[in-house]
Amino acid sequence: MAAVIHMAASTHADVLSHLFPKGDKREQGGFLFCQFDEMAQAFQVIEWMPLKGSDYASQERDYLELSDETRAGLIKKAHDMGASLVEIHCHPGQTKVAFSLADWMGFRDFVPHIRWRLAKKPYGALVYGYDCVDGFAWVDDSKQPISISGIQIGDGFLRTTENSIKAFLRGSYGSI
Ligand SMILES: [Zn+2]
Repeated sequence: MAAVIHMAASTHADVLSHLFPKGDKREQGGFLFCQFDEMAQAFQVIEWMPLKGSDYASQERDYLELSDETRAGLIKKAHDMGASLVEIHCHPGQTKVAFSLADWMGFRDFVPHIRWRLAKKPYGALVYGYDCVDGFAWVDDSKQPISISGIQIGDGFLRTTENSIKAFLRGSYGSI
């Protein structure tokens, strides 16, 4: 079982230009507000919210942490919209991209919390590398993620590397 993301081509172009600004090697991120289609296991993107410098408590080359205020605002907005969230960040320069161990440790804390705050709505995460993307989704009560197999962008389908789910199933991230 895997999930997919449906996104307008113009939104995807906005995401890419935000994630890879010229001359800035720090990680960048943002959130997609989505409706989750249970039958299709698809996140339908409604709105893209890029994060800016002041939204972070910490922004490094390989680490992002949201400020408490940003996190609270994000949860309130998603709650008011009845939306599912998909977080996005990048690993600048990484090919065959996959979530890092630090990403996984973050998910272990953050995903159960945010799903509890958002009435158990599905939650997704995408990581972009150089010319590639990968993703996880949590759609049921299990703490175990499923893979995001790709992003439908207009008429095109961008396949994920699925390196993260392979690493997860190998036990590379440790216990759940
Ligand atoms: Zn990462």
